[in-house]
Amino acid sequence: MKSSQRQRVLVTGGAGFLGSHLCERLLQAGHEVLCVDNFFTGARESVLHLRDQPGFELLRHDVTFPLYVEVDRIFNLACPASPIHYQFDPVQTTKTSVHGAINMLGLAKRVQARILQASTSEVYGDPQVHPQPEGYWGRVNPLGPRACYDEGKRCAETLFCDYRRQHGLEIKIARIFNTYGPRMHPHDGRVVSNFIVQALRDEDITVYGDGSQTRSFCYVDDLIGGLLCLMDSSPDFTGPVNLGNPAEFTIAELAAQVIELTGSGSRIVHRPLPQDDPKQRRPDISLAREVLAWRPQVPLAQGLVPTIAYFDALLARGPMPVAAGA
Ligand code: NAD
Ligand code: UDP
Ligand code: UDP
Repeated sequence: MKSSQRQRVLVTGGAGFLGSHLCERLLQAGHEVLCVDNFFTGARESVLHLRDQPGFELLRHDVTFPLYVEVDRIFNLACPASPIHYQFDPVQTTKTSVHGAINMLGLAKRVQARILQASTSEVYGDPQVHPQPEGYWGRVNPLGPRACYDEGKRCAETLFCDYRRQHGLEIKIARIFNTYGPRMHPHDGRVVSNFIVQALRDEDITVYGDGSQTRSFCYVDDLIGGLLCLMDSSPDFTGPVNLGNPAEFTIAELAAQVIELTGSGSRIVHRPLPQDDPKQRRPDISLAREVLAWRPQVPLAQGLVPTIAYFDALLARGPMPVAAGA
């Protein structure tokens, strides 16, 4: 890569599940990476393998406080993403989304950096339009237990749009749908990690409700490809744009697939459905296909294989690490 093309890229939340994969891909592409994380749900171990790469730097920092660095591009991923993590300290979750966005936008404004926000399908809440296109304004309960995350992310989108309108910033908003893969946290309570860990231990698989609710699962490599395409897209294209895999599965179907692929003897048991749990979720990715020429390549049955292998290796190492929020 020519030095003129090499960029200094800030990844907030860089020690998290998606962030660590993103740091890796950016380094592979020849960029310099400044990984900023407060290690709330992420861990140093996730990026330990990158520490000897000359272009990599790790900084412990909480994005709710100002950050003065010189960078060309910013991927703003800092925020706990799984319900048990973001509900552990809901006030801090909103602060991270809102104060974190303000600080990173202020930084982007000062250094004239292009900035991408990791938003979420949760901005659609429990949707009445299916699949969800970007034009749908969503149905979020602003008072419920998921609101700290959903409303924080919605407010961050507003801030990104206003910094563009008011200050002419180059912004990008990705609405990320459920993503899975190696380096997911084993205690994050999310459905893919829970089911795989339960299946590998021959423990009961906990399906919440009757298992008829749906989700669409995107393999991490596909998702990171989408974030990179979006960051490199034309300055006029801001999004929001949905990034996810439109193949939709019921939670009961996912449980059956995990049991089959692990050859587990686990039984399925039912537990109460959490409050405000969306009944269905599937991205309409027409915009990403058209503008970014992006679409996911890895079907669920294929992506589950390396994910299961990762958890298997983790369990073989003994007691699993517990993150701060778990
Ligand atoms: P993660 O919890 O693994 O990573 C988040 C990272 O942010 C962690 O390393 C955590 O320590 C860090 N962090 C949290 N608060 C911080 C703060 N105040 N200052 C600095 N660092 C902080 O989650 P993830 O799955 O990698 O998600 C990354 C981003 O993508 C999040 O913004 C999330 O909302 C978004 N997202 C993820 C998914 C998904 O399915 N994984 C879906 C939609 C959106
Ligand atoms: N900020 C930051 N790094 C910078 C520039 C700004 O963290 O390099 C923070 C700053 O602390 C401020 C926020 O970003 O609170 C918003 O900055 P902006 O310039 O938009 O607003 P103002 O400073 O006028 O409040
Ligand atoms: N879920 C489940 N069993 C579990 C964990 C989750 O049935 O052990 C369900 C959960 O109720 C939801 C879906 O799986 O309907 C996805 O949950 P997750 O927390 O992974 O993501 P989100 O709800 O944020 O999409």
